[in-house]
Amino acid sequence: MAWIVDSHLHLVPDPMGWARATRGVRRRVINALSPAFEAAHRAQTWLRLLPRAVRTPVDQCGSYLALPHLALGGTESDLHALLDSGTLDAAVLIAHPPFTSNHFVMEAAERDSRILPVVNLARHAQQPGAALKDFAKRGARALKIHLIADGLEPSSDVYTELLNSASDLGLPVIVHTGETALPGASGSPRLGAAERLRPWFTRYPKTSFVLAHLNFHEPKKAIALAADHENVLLETSWQPSEIITEAVATVGAERVLFGSDWPILGSNVDVGLGRIRSCVESGLLTQAQADQVLGLNAAKLYRWEPKGTPTSP
Ligand SMILES: [Zn+2]
Repeated sequence: MAWIVDSHLHLVPDPMGWARATRGVRRRVINALSPAFEAAHRAQTWLRLLPRAVRTPVDQCGSYLALPHLALGGTESDLHALLDSGTLDAAVLIAHPPFTSNHFVMEAAERDSRILPVVNLARHAQQPGAALKDFAKRGARALKIHLIADGLEPSSDVYTELLNSASDLGLPVIVHTGETALPGASGSPRLGAAERLRPWFTRYPKTSFVLAHLNFHEPKKAIALAADHENVLLETSWQPSEIITEAVATVGAERVLFGSDWPILGSNVDVGLGRIRSCVESGLLTQAQADQVLGLNAAKLYRWEPKGTPTSP
């Protein structure tokens, strides 16, 4: 038995309670679409083999494929269903303003102690450093930075202010990594390249930086960065079993975190958990290493204290 903590999820607010009322209909639509989502999961790990000029438009189409799922299956009641079923014991819920506001993730966490809130402030606060301190007092577990969504360089003053504040507070920083297309983003996908963040890792050696998605199409660069910097951790969403195994072999199981990026393609949690469990079945990871990746590392990093016993096998 192990604790399962998903280190990377999102939610779509449902202020009218529409999602709960239409759960049955939504399930049927999602089931009808599921072959397309499953094919997208399988195809995604092969996209990295395409030349960049081809990959970018394919990525763009793929990101639009996610939109129906965000609308149909990614609300707070859907997350509660994942937690109540025992699939997950806790969930690191990441804000993505203006769609999912910082206040929304904080309130979701106040309603359910299994939800660990992460705020994103670069473009959505007057005084981001002071705002981060206020959110930390209310229980925010980390700061999220998404350079592509912000359209900002790592050297931007707003990031300096936020990182100084996170460093004072001892808060971890989750950074989107990977040169991915993002509908509605103000920045170029190139802003997502993990190697651009190296100055942060040396300037804030006591701050833990989590590279979300392991740099997506170029995970080996993220693994090399983590090998060079002890304050860098790797989060597994969108990565196949062989990359997860390589990350653990290179930097140690204590610096790898299971994340799913649910609900982007609906079955992200099952697919992500399945990939880690298949590493154990094939002898690539020990059960003890998998337990660290699946939840023990996240519980420590995000200060989550489990209650009761784990519900997952
Ligand atoms: Zn995400």
